Amino acid sequence: MRWPPFQGPILGPIIKALIAALGPAWHACHSTIGVFVDHDPAGLQVRGLLCRHCNTWLETCPHSTGCAWGDYLNNSPVAHLGLTYPRAAISRKPRRSGA
Ligand SMILES: [Zn+2]
Ligand SMILES: [Zn+2]
Repeated sequence: MRWPPFQGPILGPIIKALIAALGPAWHACHSTIGVFVDHDPAGLQVRGLLCRHCNTWLETCPHSTGCAWGDYLNNSPVAHLGLTYPRAAISRKPRRSGA
């Protein structure tokens, strides 16, 4: 697969905006196509597109700098877009349970 799958009317416009701003391959690890819309768990600010691996493990990163995940968490490259994750889509996002 060479492009993010269409994720419906709720997340589709957000994915479109992220790709328009940073391209289809942008996400924390820069090694594959991002398919998950990632957001700040507290504020619902959209942080970027993540691949399945990053979406699962990114928040376990202990580094504050010098690491792609740490840099991403501390300074979202799409913060300037001011996108808010739709509450209607929250239950649809795959999230690991437990910590
Ligand atoms: Zn990744
Ligand atoms: Zn790290």
